[in-house]
Amino acid sequence: MIYFRKQLEGIERPQMEADVVIVGGGPAGMACALRLSQLIDLHNRRYPDAPLSKENIYVLEKAREIGQHSLSGAVLDPRSMDELLPGWRDEAPLDAQVEHESFYFLTREKSYRAPMMPPPMRDHGNYVISINRFVKWLGEKVEQAGITVFTGFAGSELLLEGDKVTGVQTDDKGIDKTGQKKSNFEPGYDLKSKVTVLAEGPRGSLTKQLVQKFDLYKNRNPQVYGIGVKELWEVPSGRVGKGEVILTLGWPLTTKEYGGSWMYGSRDNLVSLGYVTSLDYQDPRIDPQRVLQQWKAHPLIAHLLEGGKMIRYGAKTMPYGGWYSMPPLAGNGWMIVGDSAGFLNSQRLKGIHLAIKSGMLAAETAFSALRENNFSAEKLKEFKASVDASWIRDELWESRNFHQGFEKGLLSGLFHAGLQQLTGGRGLHEVYPAHAGHTRMKHLDQLPADGGPREQILGKAKGAGKLTFDKLTDLYHSGTKHEEDQPAHLVIHDTNICNTRCVTEFGNPCQNFCPANVYEMEDATDTPSGKQIHLNPSNCVHCKTCDIMDPYEIITWVPPEGGGGPNYDGM
Ligand code: SF4
Repeated sequence: MIYFRKQLEGIERPQMEADVVIVGGGPAGMACALRLSQLIDLHNRRYPDAPLSKENIYVLEKAREIGQHSLSGAVLDPRSMDELLPGWRDEAPLDAQVEHESFYFLTREKSYRAPMMPPPMRDHGNYVISINRFVKWLGEKVEQAGITVFTGFAGSELLLEGDKVTGVQTDDKGIDKTGQKKSNFEPGYDLKSKVTVLAEGPRGSLTKQLVQKFDLYKNRNPQVYGIGVKELWEVPSGRVGKGEVILTLGWPLTTKEYGGSWMYGSRDNLVSLGYVTSLDYQDPRIDPQRVLQQWKAHPLIAHLLEGGKMIRYGAKTMPYGGWYSMPPLAGNGWMIVGDSAGFLNSQRLKGIHLAIKSGMLAAETAFSALRENNFSAEKLKEFKASVDASWIRDELWESRNFHQGFEKGLLSGLFHAGLQQLTGGRGLHEVYPAHAGHTRMKHLDQLPADGGPREQILGKAKGAGKLTFDKLTDLYHSGTKHEEDQPAHLVIHDTNICNTRCVTEFGNPCQNFCPANVYEMEDATDTPSGKQIHLNPSNCVHCKTCDIMDPYEIITWVPPEGGGGPNYDGM
């Protein structure tokens, strides 16, 4: 039986008043907090008789420590950091500056190096970073600036009064598997706020509540996502240079899927590597963790990793949809920033600089709202106007149709990408139509039984243990931990569908797309299919793939008890 995690009802909750609550302590949330603090400092120096307080500005972060849930490649475009914090390069944990770049197209056995880097993908001069260490450092700056960061607190529910967001409710702690209070029970807070900034990362759970409540995607392209599965390796010296970037397209994905890999040379012979699989593939048997294992076995990559050691693992989704897949950015009492809103350039595979800039612009709007004591939709919509007037719009406008051009496969995608390059991002249509990724999945009886050319990426990776790994071995290196005795935070709204229709129609793709082995089909005697779904929620790395890619849309990811989740140390 699966229990739904939800907040307890009918209990007294502590109330807290806030001016601004930022939900999520990633790059967007931290940049928002820091910029707001800077503006308040400036204001208080100019107007000492009418000071503004920072005391009631809070960042909520569900991880035990700042940065623990942050995962990315990552190569940082420094543009927004230059605007946020002059002199930051001297202090920030920057692992290497990009000096060498190469781009390959892979077939099963061969690799073809492009004569030059495609211009949008050039990274020369950008910085290889560990996003986990970078966010930790940014969080220290926020705390030094006098802003309170509550770690181990998830935003569980939006507080609403009519069409106005009035804050968030933090998670109840100390509830057992059956939904009963344990001896350490502590109710969540009602954190009443004048402005709530949602900076939860891709597919944020409060953002999803907001989207559903106000139908925010009406008349817009749906958001589409990719899942990046990453490993961190130590390799023998001289294999991948510090500051070296290697990108590949092609194998093991076929021309029907969209995706590609990265390999970044970092400090101390560390190499960040991973494969991003777009979550709009048609074959439900595709397993993105296996895609990464197969890619590592390619001669070009296996040679670079020989004699090395995998030391960390993780996975996270990213919003691919671009400009036309962004929801309204603000309304009555709320703003959405970073990956939650879709601030990511999928053509460059980069979002950190956009997340930071979006957080800064939201902070400027929040500051202006605080000064005028006006938190109406009309006031907060100035955030959207400032995004439109910024370089964010210039950058995302150029790639506004990029991912949608690949909906019919790699070859037509390359054609559209070339055309869009020549037409300033337009291509054949002003707005390319898009479809939510899960709607593109096909029934098993519409696909070749043996997987055809996709065979190498179907089903779970076995892994030999040196170069390639099975999911549980990889998962061990994510440092994931949760309180075991709590309600499942993966809410399956109708398990009958899993145990009957999905078995025959899609073969239970949750077992494949989840990179952490959370979903398993067990033998059963009391279901018509002889199978029933079993969950291992403690394994979850909070990537949100199941919430996005389930073909029946019956899985909802809700935050587990704050503090649980992966520990992406150095990722
Ligand atoms: Fe990702 Fe869902 Fe699996 Fe958790 S259960 S790791 S959110 S796919």
